[in-house]
Amino acid sequence: MSVKNYIDKVLQSTIQSTPGQNEFYQAVEEVLTSLEPLLKAEPKYDQYNILERIVIPERQILFRVVWMDDQGKIQTNIGYRVQFNSAIGPYKGGLRFHPTVNLGIIKFLGFEQIFKNSLTGLAIGGGKGGSNFDPKGKSEGEIMRFCQSFMVELSKHIGETRDVPAGDIGVGGREIGYMFGEYKRLTGRFEGVLTGKGLNWGGSLGRTEATGFGSVYFAENVLNKQGESLKGKICSVSGSGNVAIYTIQKLYDMGAIPVTCSDSKGMIYDRNGIDFNALRTIKEIGRKDLVEYTKVHADATYIPVHQYPAGTNAVWSIPCFAAFPSATQNELNLNDIKNLHKNGCRLVNEGANMPSTPEAISFMLANKMFYGPAKAANAGGVATSQLEMSQNASMLKWSFADVDSKLRTIMKSIFDLSYTTSKEFGDEGNLMLGANIAGFRKVADSMIDQGAV
Ligand code: NDP
Repeated sequence: MSVKNYIDKVLQSTIQSTPGQNEFYQAVEEVLTSLEPLLKAEPKYDQYNILERIVIPERQILFRVVWMDDQGKIQTNIGYRVQFNSAIGPYKGGLRFHPTVNLGIIKFLGFEQIFKNSLTGLAIGGGKGGSNFDPKGKSEGEIMRFCQSFMVELSKHIGETRDVPAGDIGVGGREIGYMFGEYKRLTGRFEGVLTGKGLNWGGSLGRTEATGFGSVYFAENVLNKQGESLKGKICSVSGSGNVAIYTIQKLYDMGAIPVTCSDSKGMIYDRNGIDFNALRTIKEIGRKDLVEYTKVHADATYIPVHQYPAGTNAVWSIPCFAAFPSATQNELNLNDIKNLHKNGCRLVNEGANMPSTPEAISFMLANKMFYGPAKAANAGGVATSQLEMSQNASMLKWSFADVDSKLRTIMKSIFDLSYTTSKEFGDEGNLMLGANIAGFRKVADSMIDQGAV
């Protein structure tokens, strides 16, 4: 069977055996198709059935989460933990609390996580979890009761050498705190079972900033390789959560000017540069809607989502040199990339997971734009989570400067590995191909070493 047919066969059987999981198919197709040159060179992956195995999670846990709201009414949500692949280490990956969460979303995120974690060079396997619980509009008490109930079941499946969840959309320090407290109450163990913990109880300095900072370090590596840099450049960022906020902060450190951000209700364009402190106060501390930004900066433009031109995300219509999609999946489509390209954008660097549609990625590659794929560009978060695990295991605490310097080194080595792998397989500079092959190869070889499991 030709390599193309082998890939197609695995893709088709994935679609047939797991109906209705479109985001998962999208992630699988992207990875498998870019493995073509590797599979041609190395028949062993076919011989050992690696593709068939790698697209099936080692385990997926689906559970009922029941909690009581402030009115005394019983509420029900669905909880998920997908333990995708432990060939190179304990499962590691975030928890997402968002009403759109379903098994397909968690599987796409878990699948991506396998290769991302591999790229970091650290001993961490891939997993992901979450719930269709919507933290928005809930009281502190409701959030705490939900997190506690969620942990009652999750605690049976995780552990510091087994599976170590972290945050993602809708899960930040507050939620990690409530879950950690419940884990400790249930098990009597104070251990590094979650990352993104508070600084007083086992958290690592620099973890909050890590994904955003790492994304900008990655972008700077991409640009430096081409003799360019971020200094003095206008940048567009989407999102206004953890990743977006610290991307914006680091862009300023690099001498760039981030002019946009967004949330699920609309976007801000501030030609003077986004006011980092105002943004952080409104979104991270105040948990308010982004429209509040116009109360502090009346000259900034706010466009609500319902006024975005049809079929586009208004963030990507603002002229910029580099775009940092940092909100959610499929938020940058073919129309958007055409707008960016027309306005002179040279780089798309993915802070979010799978933010660009396949059509947008094809356009970028065909038009020789620089592209920092998510599993490489946003790996700084999980890498620093692993640094938190190391500190917990050794009972040490490193300084912010130590953690940040390790993060910088890791992002450079992820870039170097992705770049040299792209060159090895005849498509120099195609970091999607390089990242997918490099991430896959280490996991697949480990699976072969460990036998038929
Ligand atoms: P947050 O919950 O902190 O922020 C998410 C942001 O995206 C918010 O501004 C939110 O708007 C916006 N958003 C969420 N869903 C949508 C949607 N459907 N349409 C438009 N806007 C949306 O999450 P993070 O910043 O942690 O995560 C952002 C992305 O980065 C995700 O793809 C995540 O998987 C990825 N990522 C996160 C890592 C981390 O360490 N946190 C690590 C690696 C990747 P609103 O405020 O209105 O809800």
